Amino acid sequence: MSGDIERLGDAALMRLALEEAQAAAAAGDVPVGAVAVLAGAVIARQHNHKEEWNDPTAHAEILLLREVANRLGRWRLPDVTIYCTMEPCPMCAGAMVQARIGRLVYAVDDPRAGAAGSVFNLLQSPQLNHRVEITRGVLAEEAKAQLDAFFAMLRRRGQGEGQPDVEALTAGAEAAGAGE
Ligand code: ZN
Repeated sequence: MSGDIERLGDAALMRLALEEAQAAAAAGDVPVGAVAVLAGAVIARQHNHKEEWNDPTAHAEILLLREVANRLGRWRLPDVTIYCTMEPCPMCAGAMVQARIGRLVYAVDDPRAGAAGSVFNLLQSPQLNHRVEITRGVLAEEAKAQLDAFFAMLRRRGQGEGQPDVEALTAGAEAAGAGE
């Protein structure tokens, strides 16, 4: 079931999510991108807009779920697979359970706040009413390099001062980057 063809498919789709993440970085947001796939076709792409919009909920995955549900005219999405460049946070993992998505594929772990197994596993909690299949580590090196480059750029610009959020994000990314 997860032979070479399937793996190639996952990598190609994750590349689209990485492109989305790059668009976030270009707008000054932490590079996180997400792509939704239904029946082998990409139906939506989104990236993080938290800084640009000053919206703490404007994570790529939340925006993606909204777009997909709107487009399909339903909020139950068991036939949808989401490709995300970073392990989802608790908010986004919670939204994925709410949407009953079938499968999540992500690139890099977030050992600081990841909710798909690193810190919590909300996607496969026996206490919740829905479980999501998870594939981890697809193009993790590329996603990590993208995050590292973004935070290196922030540090060069000296934006750490007076912006505690950036400090926290930097710590998070470095934790994510450190991997293990
Ligand atoms: Zn999130």
